[in-house]
Amino acid sequence: MRKGLIIAYHRVNSSGKDPMAVSVENFRSQMRYFYDKGYTSITLEDYSIRMGQSDLPRKSLIVTFDDGYRDNYLFAFPILKQYGFSATIFLTVNYIGTDNTFSMDKNKWDKVADEDLPLTWEQVFEMKKYGVEFGSHTCAHWHLDELPEEELTKELVDSKRRLEKMLQSKVTSFCYPSGRFNQKVKEAVYKAGYLAAVVTPSHRQVGEDIYSLKRIGIYSNDTRWRFRLKTSPYFAAFRDSGLLYRLKNYIPRAILQP
Ligand SMILES: [Zn+2]
Repeated sequence: MRKGLIIAYHRVNSSGKDPMAVSVENFRSQMRYFYDKGYTSITLEDYSIRMGQSDLPRKSLIVTFDDGYRDNYLFAFPILKQYGFSATIFLTVNYIGTDNTFSMDKNKWDKVADEDLPLTWEQVFEMKKYGVEFGSHTCAHWHLDELPEEELTKELVDSKRRLEKMLQSKVTSFCYPSGRFNQKVKEAVYKAGYLAAVVTPSHRQVGEDIYSLKRIGIYSNDTRWRFRLKTSPYFAAFRDSGLLYRLKNYIPRAILQP
C-alpha cells in the first residue's frame, strides 16, 4: 500500500534551551531536503482520506507539530510557506490564546520567551487561512490511558467541539498526549468522531492502523545524517520489520530514537 512519510516536530527555534526544539537553520535545511527530493506536502486529514488510494501522491509528506507552541508560527510557518508546504498542528486547547506555559514546561526555564508560549488564536486563524490543518491534542494534555472513561470522553469530545467552534470547520485529526494510548483510548477517539490519530513510537513496537499512524520524531539532536537516515523509506521498513527491536542491544541508542 502506498504510504506517506509523517514527521513529528514539537518546536522550531534557535534558543538552544529545549531539546524538543529544532533550530531554525536545521528546520529550513530539512524542508529544503524534502523539497529537493520531490515530496508533496499534504495535511493529515487529506492523507487519512486518500491513504491507500491511487490519487495519493507517490511521495507524500505530512509535517506535524504537537502541542501548539507560538514558535510554530514565528519560525516554522514562514519556512513552510517558502517551500509551499502544508502542515498539521495539534492544539492543546486549554492553552491556546493564553500566556500560560504548557504543563510539561512548568518551572523549566528561568525566563519564558514569547516563542515558549502557546499560539494565539489570531496566529491559528492566519495559518488556517494559508492551509495549515489543526487537529486536537486534547484540552489539558493528560495521559489518556490513565483517565476514567468519562474524563477520557470529555477530553476528546470537548477539545474537538471547542476547536470546531473557533475554526468554523471540522476537526478530524488527533494526537495522543505524550504518545499514551491503549485499545480503549483508541476506541474512544474513533467514537468521538476523529478520522485518524498519530503516535510517535519509541523503542517498543507499535502496530499501525488509522488510529495509530506512525510518525518519525525530529529533535534538536538530529544531525544531518541522522535526519536523513530516520526519514529514509528504508529506515521505516527496517523499524516496521521488528528487526530493529531484536537488534537493539547492538545498535547505538542514537540511531534507535524515533
Ligand atoms: Zn504533547
